[in-house]
Amino acid sequence: MESLADVLKRAHLARGPTVDEQPKPLMCPQCGGAGYLRYDVTPDDPRFGELIVCDCTRSELEKRRIERLVDRSKIGGLRRLTFDSFILKYRGSAPPPRTPDAAHRTAHVYAEDPKGWLVLWGGFGTGKTHLAAAIANHRLSLGEPAVFIVVPDLLDHLRSTFSPNTDVTYDELFETVRNTPVLILDDLGTQTSSAWAQEKLYQILNHRYNMELATVITTNVSPDDIEPRLRSRIGDTQGLSTLVEIRDKDKRLGVTHAPAPASRRPAARLREDNRI
Ligand SMILES: [Zn+2]
Repeated sequence: MESLADVLKRAHLARGPTVDEQPKPLMCPQCGGAGYLRYDVTPDDPRFGELIVCDCTRSELEKRRIERLVDRSKIGGLRRLTFDSFILKYRGSAPPPRTPDAAHRTAHVYAEDPKGWLVLWGGFGTGKTHLAAAIANHRLSLGEPAVFIVVPDLLDHLRSTFSPNTDVTYDELFETVRNTPVLILDDLGTQTSSAWAQEKLYQILNHRYNMELATVITTNVSPDDIEPRLRSRIGDTQGLSTLVEIRDKDKRLGVTHAPAPASRRPAARLREDNRI
């Protein structure tokens, strides 16, 4: 028969450790949990009183910094769209030109070190928005700023902000979009918007062009049909702009969309193999 002592012992084990017996969280041996260190120097040393971030805190701070960048990026629900989540058909082999896979390669190289303008041009379902979001997400995961904006939304904002009835001289979104180191503009097209909204959009792009700020544009409109002032920027494939045409069977509709007839494609465009 089990002794009373054994029964009590078993009951004790079953209820688990008490609060006092809980393992204590491991205290950082360097900073004792403070998160910061001070130089061990005399008061006449210039480093006296200076705080150094302890290694145990650094990764947490970096995580929070990226969270703030993501908040400001306006990427919203497209945070899940990455280069890894893009479905490739030609794994392990060189993709044919003008396929989504070729565009994936170009976009991935660009995302590592964005320079100049990258224009992704293709019909619906070619994955250009996915690739544009993946560029933004790649920058953000590296702890670098990027802003992702859908052009019709931007135009709506510009129209309401800069209408002739307002005398706005400063607008935060306008300044952000104008100057962010990496801007992704999704769905640039032939939106009919107010003249002043179009003018503001042109000002943004012209400024970014002149300052050579990294800019990604997606469009399903032939560059020939884009507003002439923007076309001259987007079509500058001898200079700042890399134009990548993407053709694919529409994933949703099962039909092939060619973005434009061959005769309407600009003669000087397109590095045929989609390389930068
Ligand atoms: Zn520490």
